[in-house]
Amino acid sequence: MNNERKREIADALASVRAKIPNQVTLIVVTKTFPTSDVEILYELGERNFGENRDSEGAEKSALLPDDAQWHYQGGIQSNKLRSIVAWSDFIHSLDEIRHAEKISTVALEIKKRQNCFIQINLDSDQESETRSGIKRSELTRFANEISQFSGISIVGVMGVGPLNSDPRPAFAELQSASHELQNVIPEATFISGGMSGDFDIALEYGATHVRIGSSILGSR
Ligand SMILES: *Cc1c(COP(=O)(O)O)cnc(C)c1O
Repeated sequence: MNNERKREIADALASVRAKIPNQVTLIVVTKTFPTSDVEILYELGERNFGENRDSEGAEKSALLPDDAQWHYQGGIQSNKLRSIVAWSDFIHSLDEIRHAEKISTVALEIKKRQNCFIQINLDSDQESETRSGIKRSELTRFANEISQFSGISIVGVMGVGPLNSDPRPAFAELQSASHELQNVIPEATFISGGMSGDFDIALEYGATHVRIGSSILGSR
């Protein structure tokens, strides 16, 4: 094991951890970083890892101990879902009914219930169609449709804050989306929000899960 890298990660991790309350789940986003970094994080006590690509997540998850939890947060391609359901504990990026249907079918085939967050588009311009996530106004209908799929457990909402403007309105919107979702699915209380640049603000708006990569592992 590379001791210099371990010290570097340990220092960055400690300063991030110091800002996160104990009851919040820290997902270390390990995308593009080598499995050796994930092993260091595991040795340092981390158990939740985020990946954006099926192939990378499948490879790393196979090499880490079974108690590691894997979070898929990338865009969904239907032909990758069978694999993603096989290795991931949580999918954060669900935003299409046809994907929900497929996830449910393949999950039931392997006798699993797949935990999913519903991704909400937090853009102020809801018509832009450039970002992923369902429109805020579609949430209740989407949640009602999805609750019929018995291979899926909806655990909460997920959102990505704006890159170049104040994230507060976006995370306030995500928190209100969470309340709306709980009217349909009371147990879906999780809020996955916040990355390196804005997790402190996401926490002010009730984030239960933060997804942090570069502040811990360096720039990609
Ligand atoms: C890459 C990524 C992150 C982590 O971003 P950092 O800025 O490196 O902390 C979090 N969420 C999603 C959806 C991502 O794609």
